[in-house]
Amino acid sequence: MNAKTRVSALLRSPFVIGAVTATVIALLILLLWPERSNTPGVKATSGMNMDAAAPMAEHDGRAAMNLDDGAAPTNEHDGHAAMNIDDGSKTMTEDESRQLTISPAQRALMKIETVPVERRFPIAELRLVGKVTYDETRLAYITAWVAGRIDDLLVDYTGVTVRKGDHMVKLYSPELLSAQEELLQAHRGLIDLSKSSVSSLRSSALDTVESARDRLRLWGLSANQIKEIERTGKASEHVTIYSPATGVVIHRNAQEGMYVDIGTRIFTIADLDAVWVQLDAYESDLRWLRYGQNVTFTTEAFPGKNFSGVVSFIDPVLNATTRTVKVRVNVDNKEGQLKPEMFVRATVFAQFAGSGRILDENLIGKWVSPMHPEVIKDAPGQCPICGMNLVPTESLGYANATPSDAVAPLVIPVTAALLTGKRAVVYVEVSDTEQPTYIGREVVLGPRAGPDYVVESGLVEGDLVVVSGNFKIDSALQIQAKPSMMNPEGGGSGGGHNHGGG
Ligand SMILES: [Zn+2]
Repeated sequence: MNAKTRVSALLRSPFVIGAVTATVIALLILLLWPERSNTPGVKATSGMNMDAAAPMAEHDGRAAMNLDDGAAPTNEHDGHAAMNIDDGSKTMTEDESRQLTISPAQRALMKIETVPVERRFPIAELRLVGKVTYDETRLAYITAWVAGRIDDLLVDYTGVTVRKGDHMVKLYSPELLSAQEELLQAHRGLIDLSKSSVSSLRSSALDTVESARDRLRLWGLSANQIKEIERTGKASEHVTIYSPATGVVIHRNAQEGMYVDIGTRIFTIADLDAVWVQLDAYESDLRWLRYGQNVTFTTEAFPGKNFSGVVSFIDPVLNATTRTVKVRVNVDNKEGQLKPEMFVRATVFAQFAGSGRILDENLIGKWVSPMHPEVIKDAPGQCPICGMNLVPTESLGYANATPSDAVAPLVIPVTAALLTGKRAVVYVEVSDTEQPTYIGREVVLGPRAGPDYVVESGLVEGDLVVVSGNFKIDSALQIQAKPSMMNPEGGGSGGGHNHGGG
C-alpha cells in the first residue's frame, strides 16, 4: 500500500469523518456562544477568548478552545476548530467515555464551580394559601327541646356575643306546662306522704317526683329552674332557653311568634377564641406535610403580623376539581383578630430526614393526641381533652432520632443536576489529575427540598459536583460525540438528534 492510498483510506475512515463533523459543529457552537457578543475586542473567530485572565492564542480563521496558554500547539490547522481534549482514538471505558479534560484556563473560561456533596437535613419551604373558618368543634346550636311558640327572642340579631348561661329565648309550651303541673302534683304527694309510716308509699312518691324532674330536665330545664318551680309551687307558662356556650351568634333561624318543634334550630353560636385555617395543598406538597406541624401565616388585615397554628387534619381525599388537599390548622384566636373567611398566606418549613420522614426537633420521641395536636407529651398516656390514647410521633411520619444520631441524606444543590425527563446527570470533578477533569455520572435523585436535591444513589459524600458550567461541559462532550446529558448514547450527531441507526 503506498502513501497515497493510505492517506485516502484514512480520510474515508469513520473516525476522520466523525472528527470533521465534530469540528464543524464545534465551530458553529463557538460562533454562537452567547458571551462572545458581550466582550468587546474579541474577533468573531476567536471563540472562547472572553474574560479569562490567561492570554490565549487567537488566530484568524481559528476558533479554539485550545487555551493552554501557548503550550505546545496541537492539531491546529486553518479552518479547524479544535477542542484539543482527549483525542478519542483510544478505546474508552464506560467511565472515561463521559470524561472531559480541560486546561485551567478553559476551566476559568467555562466558569466552572464545584461544591462538595454533603450529608445534611435539607429544609423544604412550602407556601400555601387558604382561609379562616369556624372551628367546627366550637359551634353550638340552640335548639328547641320542646315544641312551643317563641314569645320572646332575647337575642335578635347575628354577630352579638353571648356568654354561656345568657338567656336567649322565652318559649311558651303547653306540653311543658303540663309536665310542670305533674311535677308539682308529685311534689305535693311526697310532702303528704312524708308523715306516713309506710316506707314503700314514701319511696314510690319520691320515684314519681324524680321521674317528673327527669322529664323537665330532658326538655331543657336546668336543675335550678326545676328547684324554683318546686319552691314556688308555681308552673311557669314560659320556659327560658339559655346559651350553652360563649361565642358569637352567627345564625338566627327563628322569629318571634314562630312555632317550633323539638329539634328546631333557633341560633348557631360560634366560639371564635380558636379558629381553623383551611389550607389548600398540592399533591407534591403532601410529602412535606404532617399532622402536628407548625404553620405560620399572614393576613391582609394585619400586614407584618405573623400568626401561627398547628396542622390538625390532612384530608384523606383529594379534591378532584382543584387537585388539592385540605389541610386544617388549629389557631388560637383569643385576641379575636382572625375572622372567618379571611384569606391567609401560609408557610411551612419541613426538614427532610430520609426515608420519607420529617425531622422536627420538638417532636422527637414525643407522644401526641390524635385529636388535639397541641397536646404533646414525653410519655404515652391519655389526651387530657378527649381521653384518647396518645400516639408516638414516629407513627405520624416524624423521624424518631435526633439529628446527631440519624444519618443525614446526601444533598446536592439543584444547579448541579442536569435533568432530562427520566435521567439526571451530574458532573463530578476527578481528583488527582494534572489537568481539570470532569466526569458525568447518572444519579438517582430523591425529592427536592428548597435549593437542594436529595441524592438516592450515584454520588458519595465529598464528591465535588459541578454547580456552574455543567451545561458547558455537557456541550463539550456532545461535540466530542461522547455520551452527555443531551445525547446519552454518545455518537456522531452531537446535536441531540439521533439518526436511529445506532
Ligand atoms: Zn384529645
